[in-house]
Amino acid sequence: MFKLKVRSNFSAAHAVTLPGGRVENVHGHNWQLETVLAAETLDRFGMVADFEAVKCMIEEIIVKKLDHTFLNETGFFPKDAATCELVAKWIHDSLSLRIKELRDDIVVESVTLWESPGCSVSYSAK
Ligand SMILES: [Zn+2]
Repeated sequence: MFKLKVRSNFSAAHAVTLPGGRVENVHGHNWQLETVLAAETLDRFGMVADFEAVKCMIEEIIVKKLDHTFLNETGFFPKDAATCELVAKWIHDSLSLRIKELRDDIVVESVTLWESPGCSVSYSAK
C-alpha cells in the first residue's frame, strides 16, 4: 500500500460548546491539515498522484471554503459545534467525494487536523 501525504493550512475562527454547556469565546487558529491518500498500485508515471494536483484539489475544495471564515457560520457544521473533530470529518468527506477525479483507485485514508501545535484530531472512514 502506498500512502501520499500532503500538508495544507488555513486560518479560521470558531467557538465550541464545552462540557457543562459553557460556550467558548470566539477565537482563531492557524489550522494545519495533513491529508493521507492511499493506493494499492502506482499510476503509469510511478505515482500515487501528482502532489501538485492533490494540493490544488485541497485548495479548491477545502482551503478556499474555510480560510478566513468563522467556521460556526459557514453552514458546514452545527452552529454550536464547529469542533476540530467535525471539521476533520467534513474535510475527509468533502475530499472523498471528489478524489476519484484524480484517479479511480485511490482513497482518502485519513485527515489529521491540528488546531494548535499539540492538539489534533484524525478522522478516517474505517
Ligand atoms: Zn479553538
